Amino acid sequence: ICDPELPNKAMESRTDDIRNCIACNQGCIGRMGLGYRLGCIHNPAVGEEKELGIGTLEPAETPKKVIVVGAGPAGLEVARVATLRKHKVILFEKNDELGGQNIIAGKVAGRQEITGITRWLTSQLNKLELDIRLGIEADESLISEENPDAVVIAVGSKPREKPFPGEYSPPQVVSTVQILTGEAEAGERVLLIDLDGHHQATGTAELLADQGKKVHVITSSLFIGSALGPLQDLYLTRQRLAKKGVTFTPDIAVLEIQGTLPKDIIVKGLNVYSNEMIDFEPYDTVVLAAGNAADEALYMALKGKVGELFRVGDCVAPRKTDMAIIEGHRIGRML
Ligand SMILES: Cc1cc2nc3c(=O)[nH]c(=O)nc-3n(C[C@H](O)[C@H](O)[C@H](O)COP(=O)(O)OP(=O)(O)OC[C@H]3O[C@@H](n4cnc5c(N)ncnc54)[C@H](O)[C@@H]3O)c2cc1C
Ligand code: SF4
Repeated sequence: ICDPELPNKAMESRTDDIRNCIACNQGCIGRMGLGYRLGCIHNPAVGEEKELGIGTLEPAETPKKVIVVGAGPAGLEVARVATLRKHKVILFEKNDELGGQNIIAGKVAGRQEITGITRWLTSQLNKLELDIRLGIEADESLISEENPDAVVIAVGSKPREKPFPGEYSPPQVVSTVQILTGEAEAGERVLLIDLDGHHQATGTAELLADQGKKVHVITSSLFIGSALGPLQDLYLTRQRLAKKGVTFTPDIAVLEIQGTLPKDIIVKGLNVYSNEMIDFEPYDTVVLAAGNAADEALYMALKGKVGELFRVGDCVAPRKTDMAIIEGHRIGRML
């Protein structure tokens, strides 16, 4: 599924070009279990072979100078496809590393394999002629100095800063990203609020349980892990969480969080079916998997000021890696 050219590449001793399956079960069996058609997180052509499959990529009629801002999965895929089509690409990334949020996603328990996507995209970019500028935060003036024909904004998204009403702040209330990057450390008793339903929430709960924390997860969904593929992912995740002592309360809408002092946090919830008010306490740390906000500032600042302007991936709307790669691929073909 992930690389139908695998046998040919192996025969030609191009093994490092093989887009290895990362065994994530997300885009193929996971998607099908959720009632969608077969796809692949890694290969945007799966299910779209006629339009995007082998032999369909044509060089651009007029090669352009293209600036891509952001080297998460969306920006890496735009840069790869645009360069293959003979555009002259400059890729800006403000971090010292390529990969965007997938670097953090790879720290989630059981999801290390997602970094394989960045590894493959990077290995392909290393074989192409493009200008990758790491450690540079592109802004309006830097971009206009380069005088590009086209600009693609792929700057991603960030955890929502204040997703619930109330007086609260780190280190009592932190995001999954702060936990995963080591920016924050959880206390012994953790309440994780899950509006994600995916690995970001369940995998962080598992990671904290592995560290010996006592973890309780609440969600407004019918069950924890509601966005996981039911055929394997959901079952295996729930089995591991149960064995590691993670407990759950579903059907809870969080109304408010209060707690600026250590050991003083109260999460006020409402059972969405019974309308019963429930106070969740006492916890040392509340961890939020409460969604992201798109980073729109640079796109809005450049609107109307550059020849061709596009945006792709999470900075359009925060979603997942598969959508970031599909959009990146399509924009790479449109340029
Ligand atoms: C903990 C966690 C777990 C996840 N788990 C999964 C999962 O299991 N499956 C899945 O499909 N998705 C998962 N995701 C979501 C997925 O990682 C994102 O949807 C995806 O990375 C979005 O890709 P992107 O390229 O649009 O943006 P990002 O990955 O956010 O990349 C944007 C890049 O732009 C750079 N940037 C920003 N501003 C500038 C600037 N001005 N100049 C230069 N560079 C800039 C940033 O440094 C970053 O590298 C997870 C995310 C997290 C945080
Ligand atoms: S979605 Fe994941 S498991 Fe499925 S084929 Fe693609 S890389 Fe492999």
